[in-house]
Amino acid sequence: MINHETNELFFDDLEIPAENLIGDEGMGFRYILDGLNAERTLIAAECIGDGYWFVERAVNYANERVVFDRPIGQNQGIAFPLADAYAHLHAAGLVVREAGWRYDQGLPCGEHANLAKLLAADAAFTAADRAMQTHGGFGYATEYDIERYWKEARLMRLAPIPQEMVLNFLSEHVLGLPRSY
Ligand SMILES: Cc1cc2nc3c(=O)[nH]c(=O)nc-3n(C[C@H](O)[C@H](O)[C@H](O)COP(=O)(O)OP(=O)(O)OC[C@H]3O[C@@H](n4cnc5c(N)ncnc54)[C@H](O)[C@@H]3O)c2cc1C
Repeated sequence: MINHETNELFFDDLEIPAENLIGDEGMGFRYILDGLNAERTLIAAECIGDGYWFVERAVNYANERVVFDRPIGQNQGIAFPLADAYAHLHAAGLVVREAGWRYDQGLPCGEHANLAKLLAADAAFTAADRAMQTHGGFGYATEYDIERYWKEARLMRLAPIPQEMVLNFLSEHVLGLPRSY
């Protein structure tokens, strides 16, 4: 839906000079994992921003759009899902800040980065889908930008790590359950 050209890249017999070594030999995967925590936190922050954008757009539309002589936002069937999405964004946003703070302090943050990504991706897509519903048929019209951002918000449940793999991480490394794969 977004990447319209995807390619594979192969390296064969590529020699890298020893002076290009980053850090200590044998520690590469550990360094990559540290970077992944930052990426997860960053993506989670992006999700929170996207989520608030959806709520704001939906609220504006719900106040403007009049059906049966009153704004659709007067219906609790429209208002409550938006208020609920807002509440979940706020909660997820606090977890994202906690993860970012731990990363900045140099503290272990694998659990927190994964929690942030899990909660923020769900909160963002919930907000996206409710903005779509609030806009009715116009949610599908390109002019409102909802469909475009909706597709982007859906991605964050899959990338950079799927929600299931976050749950695998939490199950194994935080709860101490046996590895499932
Ligand atoms: C638009 C887009 C942009 C991307 N950009 C980048 C990028 O810039 N850099 C990059 O490196 N990658 C990028 N990706 C790749 C992305 O990170 C992967 O698609 C994602 O991590 C999922 O991996 P996969 O596609 O191999 O799915 P698979 O590993 O094949 O998984 C498929 C499904 O099975 C589930 N699953 C697999 N194993 C288990 C298990 N053990 N337990 C439970 N469920 C499981 C997964 O959760 C998922 O739902 C991008 C993907 C997309 C769609």
